[in-house]
Amino acid sequence: MRLDESAMNIPINLNDYTPTILVVDDVPANLDVMVAHLQQENIELMVALSGEEGLELAKAKLPDLILLDIMMPGIDGYETCRRLKSDPLTADIPVVFLSAKSDEIDVEKGLNLGAVDYINKPFSLPILRARLNNHLALKHKSDMLIQLACTDELTRIANRRHFDLIFEREWLRAQRNQTRLSLLMIDVDHFKQYNDHYGHGEGDRCLKQVARALTVELHRPADLLARYGGEEFVVLLPETDFEDAEFIANQLAAAVEKLAIAHKKSTCAPHVTISIGLASQLPGSQASRQQLLKQADRSLYKAKNSGRNQVYGTMSAINEAPAAN
Ligand SMILES: [Mg+2]
Repeated sequence: MRLDESAMNIPINLNDYTPTILVVDDVPANLDVMVAHLQQENIELMVALSGEEGLELAKAKLPDLILLDIMMPGIDGYETCRRLKSDPLTADIPVVFLSAKSDEIDVEKGLNLGAVDYINKPFSLPILRARLNNHLALKHKSDMLIQLACTDELTRIANRRHFDLIFEREWLRAQRNQTRLSLLMIDVDHFKQYNDHYGHGEGDRCLKQVARALTVELHRPADLLARYGGEEFVVLLPETDFEDAEFIANQLAAAVEKLAIAHKKSTCAPHVTISIGLASQLPGSQASRQQLLKQADRSLYKAKNSGRNQVYGTMSAINEAPAAN
């Protein structure tokens, strides 16, 4: 998940929340009934006529809830549910079975597959609505908690925990697809002096402005900016080679300079600047994820040691032999 500004806009009022429900049923007439019943509600509906189509739609649209029939030609509802739950992308979407199969053993099977509820056909419309509303409210709360757990409180960008998760995922993807991956470690120059001189309130404001400027400068959906800690930021650039990463790094540095935040105690400029360490992973490299991170850190150290307010990166050092452990 990329944490952009729109994703941060969590609706506080449940009335502003328009959940999406995917209804999967092989009988078009059943779908028509559901659409007719649920359409008046503040709900967006999508329909699929088979388990396969349901899986495709679920992955593409990530609905807030899936109403799933069991008896369908092709893959049945149980198998559809099993596949939804085994895919990390769709595993957290609540599934509600809606089925004419009402034996205890069927209900138990459905719930054991991870469904949050099992409703028998024919159903009572008010009870169906009430149950769906309860499940949607829970899903909404859980989405908000996940969002909070991924977000840095001060800057509202991704936090280090979220970065670690995405870095691991992108790292595996790059290995699998033999693509390049670059990392930028960013440090606000002489930030301690800034804080000491202007006070912590201004320090916080400065970090927020820097985070905002960096966010605006990163245009591609897969790029991830996170607060790494204190005045340190990290940028993950999937499918990006050294030259492109260097270009982006220079743009980020320019964007921060353009903020022109006065910094009387800086020795590099009269305003706030950043140092950036760059590390780029070559396809097929044996270096580990931790080594790439360490390399970016070393580059940052060199950028700071060479007078700050600059980008430092090396490509060659990446092809190190893997660590013995
Ligand atoms: Mg059916």
